[in-house]
Amino acid sequence: MKILLIVSRIFICLEKPLLMERISMKIRCPECKNYFNNKEQLYLDTLNTLRHKSCYSYSLEYIKDSGTFGELKNKYFFLNEHFEH
Ligand SMILES: [Zn+2]
Repeated sequence: MKILLIVSRIFICLEKPLLMERISMKIRCPECKNYFNNKEQLYLDTLNTLRHKSCYSYSLEYIKDSGTFGELKNKYFFLNEHFEH
């Protein structure tokens, strides 16, 4: 019984980072609903929402930053894999 508990605890420890990684892959554009890939050009608005440049149809004054998804992820901690969902 004790062994089973230990095994299940190890399993949870292994499963959690994997799950986070899977979730982190799934940021998508609220306009076209497609998932971002690292090379796509995006806009980051003042509410920290990411959209494809080609999907953005709001005023440019709300744009905080722009760049590829890969660049923006490196720049902003909240886009870091542990914060993505
Ligand atoms: Zn889009």
